[in-house]
Amino acid sequence: MADRRPYVAGNWKMYKTAAETRQYVDRLSALLPLDRTVQLGLCVPYTSIHAAVAALEHADAAGIGVLAQNMHQEPEGAYTGEVSAPMLVEAGVSGVVLGHSERRMYNGETDRALQEKLPAALEAGLEPILCVGESEEERARGETQRKLRHQVQEALERVSVERLGETVIAYEPIWAIGTGQVATADQAQEAIAFIRALVGDRSPEAAERVRILYGGSVKPDNAREIMDQPDVDGALVGGASLDPASLLEIAAAAR
Ligand code: PEP
Repeated sequence: MADRRPYVAGNWKMYKTAAETRQYVDRLSALLPLDRTVQLGLCVPYTSIHAAVAALEHADAAGIGVLAQNMHQEPEGAYTGEVSAPMLVEAGVSGVVLGHSERRMYNGETDRALQEKLPAALEAGLEPILCVGESEEERARGETQRKLRHQVQEALERVSVERLGETVIAYEPIWAIGTGQVATADQAQEAIAFIRALVGDRSPEAAERVRILYGGSVKPDNAREIMDQPDVDGALVGGASLDPASLLEIAAAAR
């Protein structure tokens, strides 16, 4: 099996002020040091980026990345309310979540915009986490693979073959996000192996390198079974990441 470093990222969504971020990092720090075999990241609201970066700047926390939950594809311009990749890099951000289903659902995020966001993130030096996944109805209609093929191929279309392996993908079935209804280990493995094969259609070498995470109601008690699957390289964790102890438990299960 390829040597891919496990990755666990906590997606805070629209939770935690800057003051709450400092408290969180204090609690997290009390539980460190971390086993460095697992990459750990916190995807925080824009307004908490500064606090998170500053609070994580001590030796034990070195290597814990701060990620944004979205960005604009242009480096600058007349886009009121938007934030660009170079701005995030300057703020100390190391990665960015792109195409989360909540942004697709509530903010009109399109595959077309993602086609530009992915290369822009990589170009600026951010590690993108591209989220894809089917709805409950699509799964019931047997359209899971069709949906994944469309989302993966569209979003990665303008990422060069050389950089394809640097992209992180999160398989997040919409029916599992925030519902407590986690995918079975077999469902996660099947979908993630399929996504890896899609990357392999463009580059077998990139398919070996690309890390593909599972996301959707991951908790400390179900994390290990899912992440033990051969193609599952870690987890994107929403609700359970709001508690540093449970995030670290999940990270420990990724070893
Ligand atoms: C997410 O927000 O990406 C997510 C997977 O949420 P939850 O873990 O709460 O289902």
